[in-house]
Amino acid sequence: MKTNEFIDLENRFGARNYKPLDVILSKGKGVWVWDVEGKKYLDCLSAYSAVNQGHCHPKIHQVLVEQSKKLTLTSRAFRNDQLALFYKELCELTQSHKVLPMNSGAEAVETAIKTVRKWGYETKGIPLDKAEIIVCEHNFHGRTITIISFSSDENARQNFGPFTPGFKSIPFGDSDALENAITPNTVAFMVEPIQGEAGVIIPPDGYLKKVREICTNNNVVLILDEIQTGLGRTGKLLAEEHDGIQSDLTVIGKALSGGFYPISAVLSTDAVLGVLNPGQHGSTFGGNPLACALARTAMKVLVEEGLIENAASMGTYFLDGLKQISNPFVKAARGKGLMIGLEFYPEAGGARQYCEKLKENGLLCKETHDHIIRFSPPLIITKDQIDWALEIIFKCIGHLDHADRKMPDTGAMRF
Ligand SMILES: *Cc1c(COP(=O)(O)O)cnc(C)c1O
Repeated sequence: MKTNEFIDLENRFGARNYKPLDVILSKGKGVWVWDVEGKKYLDCLSAYSAVNQGHCHPKIHQVLVEQSKKLTLTSRAFRNDQLALFYKELCELTQSHKVLPMNSGAEAVETAIKTVRKWGYETKGIPLDKAEIIVCEHNFHGRTITIISFSSDENARQNFGPFTPGFKSIPFGDSDALENAITPNTVAFMVEPIQGEAGVIIPPDGYLKKVREICTNNNVVLILDEIQTGLGRTGKLLAEEHDGIQSDLTVIGKALSGGFYPISAVLSTDAVLGVLNPGQHGSTFGGNPLACALARTAMKVLVEEGLIENAASMGTYFLDGLKQISNPFVKAARGKGLMIGLEFYPEAGGARQYCEKLKENGLLCKETHDHIIRFSPPLIITKDQIDWALEIIFKCIGHLDHADRKMPDTGAMRF
C-alpha cells in the first residue's frame, strides 16, 4: 500500500484526535526511521521522548523476545520475579524509597494526585475533601478528566466537563506566586521541571531550588512530572538534579521501557507512598513481568551506554548550532540537554510549514503550540548525525525569505 492509501484508511476509520505529518513509518533503527516508500528520516521527536534509547534497541528487543516467551502477565494478585528487581534497581538509580508501577503517564499522574490527597487527610490533617493541589499554567500532565480539569489549554478541555475540583493554577517559573497560593489546605505543588508540551519553557535559574524550600517550609509535597524531562533527556537522569534538589514524589514514564511498552512509575518517599494500603489503588497491567523486564533493561542501557552524558554534550552542540540561524522570524533557540525548542515569531505564520519542509528533506519533528518546533532526538545521536540534521535545518529554516511578510515585533521574552 502507498502513503495515500494508508492516510485515506486512517481518515475513514480512525477518530481524528491527532493531526500527524503525512508520513507512514514502518521501520526504525537507532535515530533513523523509514516510511512505507522506503525513504529514510532522522527522528527528532523520539515519540515525545519515549524512545530515548533509540528505535528498536537490540538489547531491549532481546529482552522483549525472551521475557515474552517466559511470562508476560500475572496481575498483582500474585507476585512475579521481575517486579522486585525492577523496584530495587529503579529506587537505587533514582534514590527513591518506594515505587508504584502503572502503565501510561496520565495514570502515574492520577496515582500521584490520589496519593497526595490521601497523605493530606491522614498525615497533614486537612479537613475531608478540602485538599488543594497547586499546578502551573500551560502545564501538560495528560488527558484524563481530572488532569484536563487543571489544564489551561482550552482545546484540551472544551466540552469535556464537568471537571474535578481541588486545583489552583499559578504562573510557571514564579516562586513568589507559589508562596502566595499556598493555604493550610494545600497538599502538593505539581510542576514539570521544563514545560515540554508548552514549547520547551525553561524556568529561571534556581526556580526548583526555591520551590523546594517553599514546599518544605509549608509541609507541601513537591511533585515533579518528569515523564518527559526524566531518564536522561535534559542531560541528567532526572532534571531535578540541575537544581541539586530532590522531589517528594516524581512521576516518570515514556522512556522507561525505551519505547517498547507502556510503563510508568510513581517514585516517592515512605511517608507519602506509605499511605496506600491494599485495595486502595491498582492496575491489572501495572508492574507486569514483561514491562518490568523491559524497564530494567532500558534503564541499564541509559546508564551503561552513557546516554545521559551524551544528551548533555550533544544537546549543547545541537543548541549552539541552532543559535546560528539568522532567520529574523526565529525568536529564540533554547534547551537543556537534548530537549530543545526553536520558537518563531507569530509573523512567520506557524511552525507547521517548517516541519513539513524538514520532513521533505529527511528530518522528522513536530510543532508544539503553533509557533515552536521541538527537537528531541534519541539520546544516542552522534555529532555527525547532528551536523547532518543542522545542514537540513539551515537549508529549510536558515535563510527563509519572508520579504512579503510583516517583520516581527521583537517584544520581551517570556522569561
Ligand atoms: C507525555 C506526558 C504525560 C502523559 O503521558 P501519557 O503516557 O501520554 O499518558 C504527562 N506529563 C508529561 C510532562 C508528558 O510529557
